[in-house]
Amino acid sequence: MGRPDFPRSLKEFQARFRDEAACRAYLAACRWPEGYRCGRCGHTQAFELARRALWQCKSCGYQTSVTAGTVLHRARMPLTLWFWAAYLVTTHTPGLSALQLQRQLGIDSYETAWAMLHKLRRAIVRPDREVLKEKVEVDEAYIGGPEAGLKGGRQLVDKVVVVGAVEVRGKASGRVRLRVVPDASAPSLTSFVVDNIAPGAVVLTDGWRGYAPLRSMGYRHRPKTQGRDPTRAGKILPRVHRVFGNLQTWLRGTHHGVGNQHLQVYLDEFTFRFNRRRTPMAAFQTLLGLATLHGPTTYDMLYRSELTR
Ligand SMILES: [Zn+2]
Repeated sequence: MGRPDFPRSLKEFQARFRDEAACRAYLAACRWPEGYRCGRCGHTQAFELARRALWQCKSCGYQTSVTAGTVLHRARMPLTLWFWAAYLVTTHTPGLSALQLQRQLGIDSYETAWAMLHKLRRAIVRPDREVLKEKVEVDEAYIGGPEAGLKGGRQLVDKVVVVGAVEVRGKASGRVRLRVVPDASAPSLTSFVVDNIAPGAVVLTDGWRGYAPLRSMGYRHRPKTQGRDPTRAGKILPRVHRVFGNLQTWLRGTHHGVGNQHLQVYLDEFTFRFNRRRTPMAAFQTLLGLATLHGPTTYDMLYRSELTR
């Protein structure tokens, strides 16, 4: 399946999606990757009814909308603006606020910018459903809460326990999952594992007894019992610790004062970006709802494109 390349710069993006016609052509290419084909009679030629984003079969007159099933369906803002918004959300690593979007795109009303961002974000909130496989690092961390401002200050007030899992792919990391849990107890940690990791997988953790039941739950549990010293923990579970480090930096840099009640939403956004970091075009299409036009982005598609890099 030939997914188009993702623009590597603003300039490239602008050149490719320079006007409404270019955006519509892209939507048509997403809907008919092998070229137009009438859904009723199979004819391969159509008129484009541009203003309504419809294609009409030259043989039988059947009309197909190129925006149906996407975020863009019946949208009032120009397609170029939507494409820009999705591009910014995809590539702006720290995440984007409605105010930033409004300024960047010169949108008159804040409410419009907010509504666009909200629609795009809906694709992020939908969790990836395919479980992690083969070999996975799992650990938990204390995240969030007010910044004390000084290193070494006691910041345990209002911290939230986040449990994370990262696939081991040789020396590299595969996909990630993150969840806010009420505590670091065995029920909290093991139910996260059951929901997110395929049975029979190798699960690497530290020696915390909260993970002990995993062995009897069908996992090949490999606890590393070097104790709970955080400086050692980075060595025994390097991937998940790197993810927690990146997550902390991202939350601090962008979302100062993220309320703990919203933390899961930010974890989902972080996860979305992380899992698509090598496939930005897939992220862009997912945000616009285009990915579903030809089936969801599957694990194998993401994995394959990682392997070919
Ligand atoms: Zn037809």
